[in-house]
Amino acid sequence: MHLPGGAHHIAGAFGDDDGPEQEVLDPSTGQVLWTYRADTPATVERAIDAAEAALPGWAGSTPVQRSTVLHALARELSAAAEELAQAETAQVGKPIRLSREFDVPGSVDNVVFFAGAARRLDGMAAAEWSGTHTSTIRREPVGVVGSIAPWNYPLQMAVWKVLPAIAAGNTIVLKPAENTPLTTLMLADAAARAGVPAGVLNVVNGPGPLTGESLVRSPRIAMTSFTGSTAVGRHIAALAAANGTRLHLELGGKAPFVVFADADLDAAVRGAVAGSLINSGQDCTAATRAYVHRSLFDEFVAGVAELMAAVRLGPTRDEDTDQGPLASFRQRDKVAAMVTRAVADGATVVTGGRAPGGELAGGAYFEPTLLVGADQRSEIVQSEVFGPVLVALPFDDDDEALALANDVPFGLAASAWTRDVFRAQRVGRELAAGTVWINDHIPIVSEMPHGGTKGSGYGKDMSVYSFDEYTQVKHVMSDITGTARKEWQDTVFR
Ligand code: NAD
Repeated sequence: MHLPGGAHHIAGAFGDDDGPEQEVLDPSTGQVLWTYRADTPATVERAIDAAEAALPGWAGSTPVQRSTVLHALARELSAAAEELAQAETAQVGKPIRLSREFDVPGSVDNVVFFAGAARRLDGMAAAEWSGTHTSTIRREPVGVVGSIAPWNYPLQMAVWKVLPAIAAGNTIVLKPAENTPLTTLMLADAAARAGVPAGVLNVVNGPGPLTGESLVRSPRIAMTSFTGSTAVGRHIAALAAANGTRLHLELGGKAPFVVFADADLDAAVRGAVAGSLINSGQDCTAATRAYVHRSLFDEFVAGVAELMAAVRLGPTRDEDTDQGPLASFRQRDKVAAMVTRAVADGATVVTGGRAPGGELAGGAYFEPTLLVGADQRSEIVQSEVFGPVLVALPFDDDDEALALANDVPFGLAASAWTRDVFRAQRVGRELAAGTVWINDHIPIVSEMPHGGTKGSGYGKDMSVYSFDEYTQVKHVMSDITGTARKEWQDTVFR
């Protein structure tokens, strides 16, 4: 497997610091893939220096110039697709099929999208006032961006953070999760090969409280963009507030999956299994709470249990494997403990509910799990599990379904399964989430925004909406009469 040339990539070059030793494990075996020394605050400062030094040149480059090098980056990533897929699979424990068919192509597509979108930023509006003035709206970069990303989709999360930021003319210092640094470092290396100027994209690595916090605390960061847990997001928000730093937060989720009486049941069953098990359920939009009309409930539960039991857990490099391990033993133990507490609180396990033994015992595996009988107020329904666990609950009418679906502190994604166009319109409007799918759950496209409401944060990744985060709108107003005496001044003095 390809290993990076250093623990950080600053001003176009790999390097190493001497912070505490970090291990990158393959969670399917527990084997150590790579060790590195964490970056200390001094290295983070150096990365910010590099980003500051690169800012005037990059912010002053034309959209065409930025677009050209970002297209070159997309080509570099495409050429390295297999290496990236292998590294992503090894460090996260994703089945190789998912890395090859979802993570890597999705990341490349996002780079291509922003390479094009870089040319949609300037000259967005002009207005006239009183026939005497004309206005121009400029979208300008905010400056040096500090970004922090999680471990579930390391390459995609890095691309989602980096591309809109640099397409808009910002420079960036990015810290991936400490246990999954490999593909983010490969991205920085690919950017250097593609001709992204030194200092535009800098990557530092290490634990959140050490490396991440020194980035967030820096008064030289114009904006912090964070994807991760709600608890850490709130801590970061407090740190950002101390400096008055602009903030973008993509936090946890607890997506409802609402199956109405008129749904296509087979489609809903398949959708629930795929939507809850993708990436071993470590997806902030994963289906976690299935609310099913009472008339379909037993059939839905039986169908999901049957499909879940047939899901093939296995070695991550095996093309036939459907589900790999959790991304870490810590995460697997957290999921197992939540399922144990759910059962103690009165829920029943229909299928799964434990770590498999045999050949898989050495990895962080957990069986696809379906629970019923949980209380709406219980932890398993209210808190994010971030594992292959779905809870099914019955409902009797649409109002109840919507009330239950919205009754959690999160609002990232939701889906509704119905063949009634009016019902679909109503739930699309009333489900409290940043994304609502009708008759599907999970698909994302580079053109469309991703982001939440309530405890899931605010701001958007992907799509041109992300430019609202990474640019500031400047209004330039010009008098076009050339006269010394302006009519409006008469209001002030005559
Ligand atoms: P986490 O919040 O523990 O860590 C996320 C990142 O923050 C890591 O890089 C970590 O090193 C860093 N961090 C931790 N403490 C920090 C601190 N004090 N200061 C600065 N940085 C710090 O989350 P996680 O467990 O790695 O990721 C899983 C979470 O991410 C889930 O809650 C999931 O829903 C969320 N997530 C959200 C989205 C989204 O788009 N909304 C996408 C993926 C994951």
